[in-house]
Amino acid sequence: MQDKIDVLAAAGMNTRLAHSGNSPADYHGFVNPPVVRASTVLFPNAVTMETRNQKYTYGTRGTPTTDALCEAIDALEGSSGTVLVPSGLAAVTVPFLGVLSAGDHALIVDSVYFPTRHFCDTMLKRLGVAVDYYDPMAGAAIEALMKPNTRLVHMEAPGSNTFEMQDIGAIAAVAHRHGAVATMDNTWATPLYFRPLDHGVDISIHAATKYPSGHSDVLFGTVSANAALWPRLKEAAITLGVCGAP
Ligand SMILES: *Cc1c(COP(=O)(O)O)cnc(C)c1O
Repeated sequence: MQDKIDVLAAAGMNTRLAHSGNSPADYHGFVNPPVVRASTVLFPNAVTMETRNQKYTYGTRGTPTTDALCEAIDALEGSSGTVLVPSGLAAVTVPFLGVLSAGDHALIVDSVYFPTRHFCDTMLKRLGVAVDYYDPMAGAAIEALMKPNTRLVHMEAPGSNTFEMQDIGAIAAVAHRHGAVATMDNTWATPLYFRPLDHGVDISIHAATKYPSGHSDVLFGTVSANAALWPRLKEAAITLGVCGAP
């Protein structure tokens, strides 16, 4: 599998789209893996269960089906790991809750998707996180807005409905210089047209409800992280109990 991932990492986007997330030889040549519907996973004995020494341990923690999709998304995003969530809004709130604590400060782009703003102004505020909104055209000038407790800088480009384009690389660099995590809602572009992690973003967020799922029949979100943030993102999704349906 690692060989295949290495080959795909060097391949063009169309090849990655056609060959990621499936291994036909494992399923008698059928192109896509079967859908695993599961909550409980059995262990062969008590020691294996106690030590969790088994790849799959419970439905919310991933199945071969969700792994196949995450592998395909990682191949597109260039990410170390992806979590699946039930909506695009959850793809924003899960990483925010995974990164922020009471007493922290977050910088959110002023042109952000409105329900993200609502989450920040209500629940984040109630949890003790201060939020400031910054000009989408600010670029490296957000340096002046960074505080000692700024832990998250959130971007979205083009901005929801107003379509400002942000200087992602410059903003991510400022965030990192101050020890903050850089997140980006990449819904509009999809990884076909922009790969945030290639430009210094730590966590790329998608309302897969939109382009990837056809924008009318499916509610779905994906969150993809680089190697540094992947353990924290995965832990947040498991702790909150959110996961993709089969
Ligand atoms: C639609 C959208 C979301 C939220 O997706 P839902 O699946 O509807 O919750 C988040 N961000 C952007 C930019 C969107 O367009």
